[in-house]
Amino acid sequence: MKGDQCEFCEGEMKQRRVLARFRFNGQTIYVENVPAWVCNKCGEQYDTPPKSLP
Ligand SMILES: [Zn+2]
Repeated sequence: MKGDQCEFCEGEMKQRRVLARFRFNGQTIYVENVPAWVCNKCGEQYDTPPKSLP
């Protein structure tokens, strides 16, 4: 199976730990070390790997 591709630029997706930002009750909360898929071309982030559904 080939690696996943970004749906915007078709760059290669890498799984990384990122600093994620959430909005909760009007506050902005940061959570470190959240696993996410990041495009190494445009930097787009995904919570789940794109185009990898069965
Ligand atoms: Zn991309």
